[in-house]
Amino acid sequence: MTRDELADLLADQASYRVTQIWDGLYRHGTAPGDLTVLPLQLRARLAGNGALAPSLQADAQLEADRGATVKWRWALSDGRRIETVLMRMSSERPAAPDRANPRATVCVSSQAGCAMACGFCATGQAGFDRNLTTGEIVEQVVRARTEATRRGWRLTNVVFLGMGEPLANYDRVWPAVRRLHDDVGLSARHLTISTIGIVPGIRRLAHEDLPVSLAVSLHAANDELRSRLVPVNRRYPLAALTEACRVWQIAKGRRLSLEWALIHGVNDRRSDVVELAELARSLAAHVNLIPLNPTPGFATRGTPPEGVRAFRDRLADRGVNVTVRHNRGTDIAAACGQLAAAVAGPEPAAAAEAR
Ligand code: SAH
Repeated sequence: MTRDELADLLADQASYRVTQIWDGLYRHGTAPGDLTVLPLQLRARLAGNGALAPSLQADAQLEADRGATVKWRWALSDGRRIETVLMRMSSERPAAPDRANPRATVCVSSQAGCAMACGFCATGQAGFDRNLTTGEIVEQVVRARTEATRRGWRLTNVVFLGMGEPLANYDRVWPAVRRLHDDVGLSARHLTISTIGIVPGIRRLAHEDLPVSLAVSLHAANDELRSRLVPVNRRYPLAALTEACRVWQIAKGRRLSLEWALIHGVNDRRSDVVELAELARSLAAHVNLIPLNPTPGFATRGTPPEGVRAFRDRLADRGVNVTVRHNRGTDIAAACGQLAAAVAGPEPAAAAEAR
């Protein structure tokens, strides 16, 4: 529900009630039925309104990395499952009591399932169910923030790195971004859209007023290999993708990130370093390396740690700005789509123990 729709619904009430309810929803994460500042009768009336009711029901909540990573699997109102992951930054050292509250990032889903069919991705293996609504996207952030606050963390960053392809659900994702900025109060540059490379979507982002961050899941820097790993590359090949990235960079003046999941013997060879270095330098992009998380439907494993370090060093030698991202929550199936995939198999707790 938009703020205008809420105001229409409350046309018979004093106008400050709209502000109370809106702030309750987005600043405090409180459902209208639980807002004790409201008269009981109004609370009851709002609690009965489906458009204002919570849309996510937790059916699993798991922790990993000594409490620094929390993952939810939510049941949506139609029974479909999606996932959200909350990560405290700097997992290695717990925040000293005299330091400011540690910051946290939430990784949100934009679709139930995904139609992009990347073979190495658990969500891609499972296929597409439906787009999430703006409310279902925003609520993931609000619910994660409530948990972060409870733990003494500050939720500052949102990454659209969960299930789904955000730019394939643009018309709901962008209003969610607006809501997160305008009403939840997050800074635009701390909102990161990660895309497999939907060229028209990237071009649309270039025209938006909010300077959100952009990450492109590249994984291969030649069309032959990329089309094998990322089928949508056949529709939007590298030349079109890099051109759209350039348009976005010129319009926004922001640095682009490139994601590269290191797959052993597939995209971690010396020739891959050379191709990636050339592409990354031409876009002045930052490269994030992530060792592939194993998934049931993809036989090839991630690059071992020494190979990851060698790949990083070779890129850095070629003048590329590069970071290795650590796998978080591997013991709770926190890689994209793994937990939702487990719904058809054993219970998540059992699945985690079996690993
Ligand atoms: N569709 C968007 C966002 C969701 S996928 C995108 O492609 O960017 C989020 C990230 O996780 C992508 O970079 C994706 O390539 C990566 N990913 C998917 N499966 C993975 C796996 N098994 N191991 C490591 N990274 C994976």
